[in-house]
Amino acid sequence: MSRESRASRGEERRKGQVNMAQDIPRYNRHELLRVIGEEGQKRIEKARVLVAGLGALGSLISILLARAGVGMLRIVDLDAPELHNLHRQILYDEEDTRSGLSKAQAAAQHLGRANSTVQIEPVVGAIGPESIAELTTGIDLVVDALDNISARYFVNDRILELGIPYVFGGAVETVGNVMTIIPGKTPCLRCLWPDPYAVADHPRASTVGVLSAAATAVASVQVTEALKILVGRHEDALAGLLVMDLWHNQFHVAPVAPDPRCRCRVYVPKAP
Ligand SMILES: [Zn+2]
Repeated sequence: MSRESRASRGEERRKGQVNMAQDIPRYNRHELLRVIGEEGQKRIEKARVLVAGLGALGSLISILLARAGVGMLRIVDLDAPELHNLHRQILYDEEDTRSGLSKAQAAAQHLGRANSTVQIEPVVGAIGPESIAELTTGIDLVVDALDNISARYFVNDRILELGIPYVFGGAVETVGNVMTIIPGKTPCLRCLWPDPYAVADHPRASTVGVLSAAATAVASVQVTEALKILVGRHEDALAGLLVMDLWHNQFHVAPVAPDPRCRCRVYVPKAP
């Protein structure tokens, strides 16, 4: 090992990036993956990601992205952890429900303990017309962990303006959905659901429940989609809407057609 690489390894060790005893780099198991590699890991470490919502999906998404070494995580949620959240919101514990901290503050503490090299930006607030511009400033990718459709439309429309990708996810009852939206290349959420009023009637976890494993499965797929985008493998991204019912062992990807009237403008009319 040259003097330069020894010095560099010493610097990595000081930053907590390599194992003290065996000199195994922190992200070794991702770097070994053919689809990520050392180059992909470097890209991940430079990325700035917004995790929108810190409930069941946001818990797993934020902890996996933090442990993957994403450069900056902006995490946003308005609420505080409650006891009935704990069955699926795996980032929090009973102490968090007593601490008086918001989910964003409690999450920032847990994420910082998991990986102190990641810059965590907790934001206590809601996603809406007043906040969406600031929340998405300087962001490379948005990962959806929201629990309401109107906030998702704000995110969808903003990422189309910015031209940054967005990984939509949702889970209710035993069913989960994931769709990856890449502006200019894929249909968007408005192509999937053109009528916000029709979507407002969809069942919600607060009334019909949600299987914790369905939520974490969705979040796991979303993190995989996020990593594909962060390492630059857009061609590997999910094409269409993933629909999975964990209880009934049904998994399929439904095609989503671009809406010719949609603002995302990915519809290309076929030649006559
Ligand atoms: Zn669209």
